[in-house]
Amino acid sequence: MSEINTQRRSFLKTSVGAAAVAVAPGMLLFDIAHGKAEGASSKVRWGMLIDTAKCKPGCNECVTACNKENGLSGGIAATDSQWIRKIELKDISTGRELSLPMMCQHCENPPCVDVCPTNASMKRADGIVLVDKHRCIGCRYCMMACPYKARSFVHEPLHDQNPDVPRGKGTVESCTLCVHRIDQGGKPACAEACPNNVILFGDLNDPNSEIAMKLRTVASVQIRADLHLNPGVRYQGI
Ligand code: SF4
Ligand code: SF4
Repeated sequence: MSEINTQRRSFLKTSVGAAAVAVAPGMLLFDIAHGKAEGASSKVRWGMLIDTAKCKPGCNECVTACNKENGLSGGIAATDSQWIRKIELKDISTGRELSLPMMCQHCENPPCVDVCPTNASMKRADGIVLVDKHRCIGCRYCMMACPYKARSFVHEPLHDQNPDVPRGKGTVESCTLCVHRIDQGGKPACAEACPNNVILFGDLNDPNSEIAMKLRTVASVQIRADLHLNPGVRYQGI
C-alpha cells in the first residue's frame, strides 16, 4: 500500500466523527473548529480587486505571506503545493510589462466543483471555493478543469501546519481566500502583507464596501471572462 493510502486510511479511522461535521458545505471552518455552527451568508460575496499598475516585478511578498500563513513549503521541490504565484507578462507590440499575482479566482460557476466526483470541491454561500480534504480522493479532475492552474496536489510530507489550516497529503488544495481569517473578521494574508496595497479585499455584494465602490469607478477585467465563470477576483490596469 502506498504511503498516501496508508496515511489516508489511518486518518479516516481516527476521524469519522470529525468528517461528519466537516463536510457540510457553507459552514464556517473556524466555527466548526471551535465548536460553533454558523453558516456562511449568501448576502456576502467575498472578492479581491488587484491593481496591476501598483504590483512590482520581482516582488513576492504576497507569495511569501501565503506560504507562511498556510504552512506551505514555498516550493522547495517543483511539485510542492503553491496557492499563489506571480506572473510576469510582456506586450510584445508595445513592450509594456505587467506583474500580477494569480491564485484561485473563486469562480461563481466553478468548473472544479462541477467535475468533482465526491463533492469535495465546493463553493460556500459567500462565494469562497474550497476543497474538503476529508472527501478529496486525490483524483485531480479539478486540477484539469481549472483554467487558471490554481490547484495543487499535495505530494510533499507535511509538517509545521497552521492548526487553523489543516492540510492533507494526497489531496488537492488551492487558495482558500484565507477563510480562517475571514471567518474571524480578518483579511487575507497576501492582502495584508503587500507593501504596495495591490490587493483590495472585500464584499462585492455590499454597494458601500470599498471594493464595490472602486469597481464602479475603475476599469477592471475578469481573467478569461470568455468562460463566463464570473470570478470573485478582478484585475485593474490590464
Ligand atoms: Fe475552481 Fe480554478 Fe475557479 Fe478556483 S479558479 S474556483 S480552482 S475553477
Ligand atoms: Fe494565499 Fe490567503 Fe492570499 Fe489565497 S487569500 S493567495 S490563501 S494568502
